Amino acid sequence: MTDTTDRTAATAAKAATHADPAEGKRVHELDRSHVFHSWSAQAKIDPLPIAGGQGSWFWDYDGNRYLDFSSQLVNVNIGYQHPKVVAAIQEQAAKLATIAPTFANDARGEAARLIAEVAPQGLDTVFFTNGGAEANENAIRMARLHTGRHKVLAAYRSYHGATAGSITVTGDPRRWASEPGMPGVVHYWGPYTYRSSFHSGNDEEECQRALQHLRETLMVEGPHTVAAILLETIVGTNGVLVPPDGYLQGVRELCDEHGILLIADEVMAGFGRAGEWFAIDHWGVTPDLICFAKGVNSGYVPLGGVIISDDIAATFQERAYPGGLTYSGHPLACASAVASIRAFHEEGIVEHARSLGTDVIGPALAELAGKHPSVGDVRGLGVFWAVELVRDRATREPLVPFNAAGAENQPMVEFTAACKERGLWPFVHFNGTHVVPPCTITADEVRHGIGILDEALEVADRYYTGS
Ligand code: PLP
Repeated sequence: MTDTTDRTAATAAKAATHADPAEGKRVHELDRSHVFHSWSAQAKIDPLPIAGGQGSWFWDYDGNRYLDFSSQLVNVNIGYQHPKVVAAIQEQAAKLATIAPTFANDARGEAARLIAEVAPQGLDTVFFTNGGAEANENAIRMARLHTGRHKVLAAYRSYHGATAGSITVTGDPRRWASEPGMPGVVHYWGPYTYRSSFHSGNDEEECQRALQHLRETLMVEGPHTVAAILLETIVGTNGVLVPPDGYLQGVRELCDEHGILLIADEVMAGFGRAGEWFAIDHWGVTPDLICFAKGVNSGYVPLGGVIISDDIAATFQERAYPGGLTYSGHPLACASAVASIRAFHEEGIVEHARSLGTDVIGPALAELAGKHPSVGDVRGLGVFWAVELVRDRATREPLVPFNAAGAENQPMVEFTAACKERGLWPFVHFNGTHVVPPCTITADEVRHGIGILDEALEVADRYYTGS
């Protein structure tokens, strides 16, 4: 990981040369006049103008540097401005900046080969999209056509994207405003031992009961009507919910019993985030379709896709696949994925992410839990962690209510501000913060960031009402 250390060392100097408040003001004004932002009441946001980034850091035009514990939207797995990925984009742009999906292209073919190589055995072809939502849309389409069935089961605690079908399969509140959505979607409860929907006392019980619930859901829906179970291998935004050992194996068995396809949404969990190429590798389970995006090229150019089992690919050998995108397999995106995956291999980035989880992040967060009463639970793998905050450890009352807004969200607003004031950019969701830095972050940087979390948690502790 010497590259990362070098990039970090370069950061301080670079940041200093970037302070330009007047330019920052201009960027802010332009944004406020013309840019319409995602998921926001436009008058209520104040986007921070960003001047640059390097490694695990980014900075604004006023010279403030932030250690990124969010990886933006949990996508900058390789860190900012990785020289090999930047060079690959530049080289591809000079060679051939665009070509339609109808043609064969070297960058596209090599990206597909490299992705299939790290996927579980028997998944050998890749359909490229521009991002995660489109990957899920197409996986659902493939599953329906392959099985001749229409229903899709998905978890309540989930996010799968914001296009029409993906927002319908999404379980979290972002779905509500888009309802009624695509027909044929049924939600179920996945495992979450800390807040069990099944009154379980431990992971083993949670695993058995969650599987029983899924079995019963299938029974009453009619398993012969179900094309696929779509799940986030590790639920991401909705709390880094690592499934108990045995759960994914159990889902796979249920699918096999009923001829249902298993779609693993690895958009957030894949490409090193969970300390494996794909999170599903932790449990040795082989899905029928894997959806990816984000970490495949860290969003340097938009890219996502579906990795397809040989069986499903065979369905579309003689029969046309009725779906496509103008930019499917875009050469710039694919060239950046090729460079990123090669860098992951050359620099041992997956192994680095795994050992950060076991040796650095896990132990440091356990220490925070020992120190701060407001920390109800910490959980995760690799560089994919959540710290869940509560008002009372005994009752597990969340620090703020589910989907809190306005005044009731004040504790999380103050916690977020305390992190940012100290130069840490957190990923805050509901009553918790994720710890999801780039996979390339150094152990010292992790310790620095967790030191800031330690200070910021004093804000959360002030709202603690338990004994
Ligand atoms: N699936 C998961 C698990 C995600 O976390 C996300 C985005 O956060 C998506 C799908 C949607 O991806 P995109 O925003 O690239 O469409």
